[in-house]
Amino acid sequence: MSELNLILLGPPGAGKGTQAERLREDFGLPHISAGDMLRAQVSAGTELGLKAKGYMDAGKLVPDEVIIGMIIDRVGDEDARDGFLLDGFPRNEEQADALGQALKGLDRRLTAALLIEVPDEEVVRRLAGRRVCVKNPTHIYHVEFDPPKHEGVCDQDGARLQQRKDDAEETIRNRLAVYHEQTEPLVDYYERLGLLRRFDGSRNADEVHRHIRAALATLRLEEKL
Ligand code: ADP
Ligand code: ADP
Repeated sequence: MSELNLILLGPPGAGKGTQAERLREDFGLPHISAGDMLRAQVSAGTELGLKAKGYMDAGKLVPDEVIIGMIIDRVGDEDARDGFLLDGFPRNEEQADALGQALKGLDRRLTAALLIEVPDEEVVRRLAGRRVCVKNPTHIYHVEFDPPKHEGVCDQDGARLQQRKDDAEETIRNRLAVYHEQTEPLVDYYERLGLLRRFDGSRNADEVHRHIRAALATLRLEEKL
């Protein structure tokens, strides 16, 4: 079987995590969320978590030496052998170079970079209304666009829903500025490599999912030919 080594690109709140969860089920690939991995380190009070926390609360990128090793190790894990969905990494050119080199060292390469495009004002609406399960952060809701059946309670495991600290409006603006400055240049980067696939993220989550799934099915067919 051909590998599906995928990265999800796009501003905060574009729906990367939402789509990654759906694609994980479709294609049986691990969803590797840089943000979730960092937050787990912060909760556990590890040295890495302590280094990352201040940057995350301020909406800035954590330093490359904190994140690159952690993600590259994870990509080399057994469950990612047939592919992965990398969500929130890379976020700058140094990280993209490091990922490319690490894959090369494993005799692998990226299959595609999936860009989910959403305008800034929609990002603010989405992040301000985002609620996340305290028990499993991949269970993601929105107070207006994807509300749980019972307010404040996760449909999937009954745990409490909470708002992320960095989803406060002022921090959202910082994160958007960081995205435009440091992460958006990766759109050209992956376009030059012929890996970029664009998706209109302002559509509803089901439609975005259908479009991405169809594009990946086509990619797979092309690889087999
Ligand atoms: P978003 O909802 O913005 O996509 P994430 O959960 O991906 O948020 O990231 C939350 C925070 O974690 C970021 O604002 C940043 O501080 C840190 N972070 C996540 N991924 C990276 C990365 N690849 N490089 C540096 N910092 C990161
Ligand atoms: P990211 O991982 O890119 O930061 P999330 O997947 O966490 O984004 O989504 C951000 C918020 O927007 C969540 O509250 C989610 O429920 C909501 N959301 C995701 N996709 C859509 C969509 N297509 N339309 C409306 N709301 C969405």
